[in-house]
Amino acid sequence: MPRDAEHGHLCDSCHNDMERWLGGGTDGAHAVWVHLGRAQGGISSTPTDTDHRGGSESVEPLRLAIFDTRRCLSDRIYIYGERLREVLNMKQPVGRFDIAKEARFLYTRLAAIEAEEDFAAWMYGDEAMSADDVCGHGLQGVMVRAHMVAPWRGAPLRLPAPCPECERLSLVMYGTAADPAARVAGNDSIG
Ligand SMILES: [Zn+2]
Repeated sequence: MPRDAEHGHLCDSCHNDMERWLGGGTDGAHAVWVHLGRAQGGISSTPTDTDHRGGSESVEPLRLAIFDTRRCLSDRIYIYGERLREVLNMKQPVGRFDIAKEARFLYTRLAAIEAEEDFAAWMYGDEAMSADDVCGHGLQGVMVRAHMVAPWRGAPLRLPAPCPECERLSLVMYGTAADPAARVAGNDSIG
């Protein structure tokens, strides 16, 4: 049974995910976008002396996956901003798209997004890890994908599972005692 949402149509846990993905920390859209760019560049300049058979061709699929994921991330931030301005009856911006600026705009207006059920569900990405979209659904899908193709230091392993607070398929962090999901049946040995 869905609980009363604390943040419009998102529960506290899912709201915190959204704040993290739009915020200025290492899991935020801008930092992840920069990280993916560096990872992509790092791959093309990495010496291939550990792989004599494949050479540079062996890293090409990964480099492309990182490129696609990075493009998905900026595309999504762009379309979320576009939709939010429609909701708020604001004029669409002209000029160059700045992912940091746009993520900040979304962050500061998160309450307006969470007030719209369809918008919140679409942007969060309720059907994470769908096979029909290479980047998955919503911000959750692209963040999972980003961490798969280019893991960043300090970010915990987060896997899609039912949100501990609502019925939404969410990302949970396994292996920490603080995470309620680490204590559900089947994960008794962790935490
Ligand atoms: Zn939730």
